[in-house]
Amino acid sequence: MKTNYIYLVLLFFMMSLNACQSQESPQKEQTKKENIMSNKEFKVIKSEEEWKQSLSDEEYFVLRQAGTERPHTGKYNMHFEEGIYLCNACKEPLFESDTKFDAHCGWPSFDKAIKGKVVEKLDRSHGMTRMEILCASCGSHLGHVFNDGPTETGLRYCMNSVSLDFEEANETED
Ligand SMILES: [Zn+2]
Repeated sequence: MKTNYIYLVLLFFMMSLNACQSQESPQKEQTKKENIMSNKEFKVIKSEEEWKQSLSDEEYFVLRQAGTERPHTGKYNMHFEEGIYLCNACKEPLFESDTKFDAHCGWPSFDKAIKGKVVEKLDRSHGMTRMEILCASCGSHLGHVFNDGPTETGLRYCMNSVSLDFEEANETED
């Protein structure tokens, strides 16, 4: 009888141990994923000192320190020319002008990125959970993506003008 009791206690102990473990593991899994993302190797690798030298103070603040430009101040907010928007740090093409729309939010907005040109990273800063958008080529911060887009993709890539450069479409091409 006594042996049975000990056995039972031991069984309970094992079960509670298991419960703890299964509660813990999803979180561990998440942290692991985030680490992989932040350790992602980018094609263009420069030291922060090199970035500081090639970018203006404002560009460095947004692109390399994940800053945000003030709304309605960026040069591409109300810019609707035909062409391609590039990463302002490494000049890789990111967005086509026909995916740009006026989201009335004060920042240039797109409903789709050029395939493979941006990567997403979970951002829990400022007490919010948002999906940060980085340039897939150099890892610079571009902005965030939200699921409230008005077009059929349902996405709103809310970008900083400072993070973008623009290449006008070549008129002789058509
Ligand atoms: Zn880039």
